[in-house]
Amino acid sequence: MVLPICPICQKQYSLQTLPIVLVPCGHGVCESCQDECNRREILECSLCRELVASWTPNYDLRAMVKQEEVDWKEKLMSSMDFLAGEEIEIDDELKEVAPLLMLKAKNTQSIIRQRRVIAEMARCMDPNDIFEWISVLQFSNEKDLLPVVSKLIDDKIFLESKKALWVLKLVH
Ligand SMILES: [Zn+2]
Ligand SMILES: [Zn+2]
Repeated sequence: MVLPICPICQKQYSLQTLPIVLVPCGHGVCESCQDECNRREILECSLCRELVASWTPNYDLRAMVKQEEVDWKEKLMSSMDFLAGEEIEIDDELKEVAPLLMLKAKNTQSIIRQRRVIAEMARCMDPNDIFEWISVLQFSNEKDLLPVVSKLIDDKIFLESKKALWVLKLVH
């Protein structure tokens, strides 16, 4: 299941990026973007410019977020054979890194698959954290992987400055 993204910050809806619906226009954004609009006293919907009277949680999407939350933790745990039978608390914040952890668990050396996963991480994570995770996980092809990641993060910063982060999806 692929959850939609907030059209303003381009982050996928999650427990950190909760979906809401603006009233009366009905456009969907995330709670943090709406909070930011309130702080900056922006009264219109950023998508259609209609005046926002109030907002309400997007209950259907939130149910999907909850399901997704259960799904990714189960998937991650089941890929970690060495943890079988152990009680591990997986923090919500690990969600973005989970696909990379699974690549490591499966010992995947395919740079194409690694790059696709890291491109996804680059959309929402701090670049330093990405390098840190790669270093911690000690991929055996780290030497080839690091320049690829540097380029990806440069691309991301460029695209962000052009407000075109979605282009990353086109390339990877
Ligand atoms: Zn948002
Ligand atoms: Zn609207």
